[in-house]
Amino acid sequence: AQIIQADFVKSSVRFEDCPSDGLPEFALVGRSNVGKSSLLNSIVRRKKLALTSKKPGKTQLINHFRINDSWYLVDLPGYGYASAPQELRKDWDKFTKDYFLNRSTLVSVFLLIDGSIPAKKIDLEYARWLGENQIPMTIIFTKCDKRKKKKNGEKNGGKKPEDNVNDFQELIRGYFETVPPWIMTSNVTHEGRDEVLLHMAQLRNY
Ligand code: GDP
Repeated sequence: AQIIQADFVKSSVRFEDCPSDGLPEFALVGRSNVGKSSLLNSIVRRKKLALTSKKPGKTQLINHFRINDSWYLVDLPGYGYASAPQELRKDWDKFTKDYFLNRSTLVSVFLLIDGSIPAKKIDLEYARWLGENQIPMTIIFTKCDKRKKKKNGEKNGGKKPEDNVNDFQELIRGYFETVPPWIMTSNVTHEGRDEVLLHMAQLRNY
């Protein structure tokens, strides 16, 4: 399941502009700073493949990378920029959701969740929307090498990634008919990198 070739193909503004060759694809999405670029670069074993600029406004694009000439990895804009104006945020929301609802070659959304911190409301809302709209989803927990230090008087601060992962799954259970598959990853230890690729290979062969 290794990646031999990865080519940037295009950035699309709307799902209608995405490549139309019918190859299966996987979309990566997550809160900004969740570790999406790091994961993308780590699974293709390349630095700086992700072209998405981090500045809000420049990230409003659906970026297609063709892998081994047979499938696509799709980099979607991060959500949850604290600095983005409300209007812009709604825009991102709409065009990503249009893509999820209409892109027939989308095999699974890979929702990236920071495994080093307790669940964030915006992540739970995102997972809920995907579940309620029956969009196939895989949860990728990132930063699973990292453990937040417990501060004085803080209740959740000292939780291990395993605890955050279990808590998150407990919280989203009700949104899904079947529990979404999940993988714990780290770009520091490279835990989970091969599993992500293997899982994508399995999904392509269904
Ligand atoms: P993006 O905004 O989602 O593309 O996030 P980046 O890939 O740029 O990562 C955001 C920050 O998290 C950077 O400072 C990374 O070095 C850090 N980071 C990313 N992945 C990991 C990880 O697996 N473990 C740790 N400890 N830090 C990470």
